[in-house]
Amino acid sequence: MGGALRRPALSSFSRGMQTVTLIPGDGIGPEISAAVVKIFDAAKAPIRWEERDVMAIKGPGGRWMIPPDAKESMDRSKIGLKGPLKTPIAAGHPSMNLLLRKTFDLYANVRPCVSIEGYKTPYTDVDLVTIRENTEGEYSGIEHVIVDGVVQSIKLITENASRRIAEYAFEYARNNKRSSVTAVHKANIMRMSDGLFLRKCREVAEDYKDIKFTEMYLDTVCLNMVQDPTQFDILVMPNLYGDILSDLCAGLIGGLGVTPSGNIGANGVAIFESVHGTAPDIAGMDLANPTALLLSAVMMLRHMGLHEHASKIQTACFDTIKEKKVLTKDLGGSSKCSEFTAEICRRV
Ligand code: NAD
Repeated sequence: MGGALRRPALSSFSRGMQTVTLIPGDGIGPEISAAVVKIFDAAKAPIRWEERDVMAIKGPGGRWMIPPDAKESMDRSKIGLKGPLKTPIAAGHPSMNLLLRKTFDLYANVRPCVSIEGYKTPYTDVDLVTIRENTEGEYSGIEHVIVDGVVQSIKLITENASRRIAEYAFEYARNNKRSSVTAVHKANIMRMSDGLFLRKCREVAEDYKDIKFTEMYLDTVCLNMVQDPTQFDILVMPNLYGDILSDLCAGLIGGLGVTPSGNIGANGVAIFESVHGTAPDIAGMDLANPTALLLSAVMMLRHMGLHEHASKIQTACFDTIKEKKVLTKDLGGSSKCSEFTAEICRRV
């Protein structure tokens, strides 16, 4: 788990600071979190970090829960930045990411995918956002054995969750000066479940006449996405489709190492996170690329209304990548995480 981060003493810009709960996570999590903290300090971002370890503990009745001090910090700060957390396979505690999602009702997963100039990928002008319903669909966890050799997994779609995610997508479009929202579905096959999702999207669209609304089958989106991703702006979809399509979109801009993500919850809570894993093969070796967590932190600053700091940090990161002199190995360079971090600090 992430140990205490070494950080410089708070300086005079500590006045007017907003608190953010920092969950460094496992594996490379503490290294990339420390990089983000350093860059934020260099940019004089008005953030006070409250660091919390998150590991599953057993609560009353034997139910898995996150540690009370982490929950209390999140309840108070409302905003979290999280590194990757390891998940034991097939035994032990459930996924901590799932537990956090449930604890704070993080119903919207948001992933902006923007091409980074100078970073070679199949496309150069991708600029889209996937918005995934995060609480139900095929991932509701309702599964049964019907008879030996036959299992059933239930896809749960509700009116409330569909309306809530559609409203979030249109609000996001408005607040971020985006022009269109596409509902992604398979209502031709799953007429009742995806049909309900689509109906709610159409209803919500009626209240946002300033945003263009289109609907498209998931398979058609996949085909069109790899042929010309520039035709898409915001895509909103149920859980399983979002899980898959958001990774496909991340691939278009260079992979999970450069893709930020935010999980937006009810009651004003939001947790921003890198979507890659703990990278145990390079943990502790100063080789990790902190870009995904840094861009997630930039998304967080925008969510908090700190647009100037967000732009300053994003530009410094993108310029560093564009110049190609100081890059981590996964980005095609040979620099350490600490050198890449220092270069971004120099530019902010
Ligand atoms: P991984 O993403 O950790 O690693 C896949 C490959 O990508 C490795 O070669 C790794 O070195 C590289 N990589 C990943 N992030 C990198 C970065 N920032 N910089 C440079 N290289 C990077 O995937 P995995 O090995 O399948 O998973 C390891 C652990 O992470 C598992 O316990 C899994 O459950 C967990 N995980 C957590 C999250 C999360 O918390 N959001 C997401 C995915 C996986």
